[in-house]
Amino acid sequence: MRCPYCGSTNTQVKDSRPSEDHSTIRRRRVCADCGGRFTTFERVQLRELTVIKRSGRRMPFDRDKLMRSVQIALRKRPVDPERVERMVSGIVRRLENMGENDIRSESIGRLVMEALKALDDVAYVRFASVYKNFREAKDFEALLGELAATETDDEMSSKKAAAPAED
Ligand SMILES: [Zn+2]
Repeated sequence: MRCPYCGSTNTQVKDSRPSEDHSTIRRRRVCADCGGRFTTFERVQLRELTVIKRSGRRMPFDRDKLMRSVQIALRKRPVDPERVERMVSGIVRRLENMGENDIRSESIGRLVMEALKALDDVAYVRFASVYKNFREAKDFEALLGELAATETDDEMSSKKAAAPAED
């Protein structure tokens, strides 16, 4: 593994441990040339996925990017990070199990919305409002109508912070 600081390939694993659900191995590494320390994650990858964006552009599926957009939607929400990890892993497994190597970005967005809906209503609304690209207030009200929970104005005002899964 190449050192992210100096580019040396002379790096060593100092510590390895599995995540709580044993779906990943986290490794602490140190660079023998510059002393830099960094962490890598090892995960099962069943399939090489390619995302087809709305524009038709193709790009490799990036789990970290998916995780970032989920985390933006979940910002300041009281959700256990382990659950978020499991949620993202679950989405990736479902994408891999679709049986296609090419995945439309809309499909990813739909899975993220489903998962967030189960996990946290506020994060769901934040994500969905960006993903569905609401232009009219009534669309947003219709979405709110789908939710049992009542949201506050303050929570709604941060919806713009969320980003769609693969944009
Ligand atoms: Zn280094």
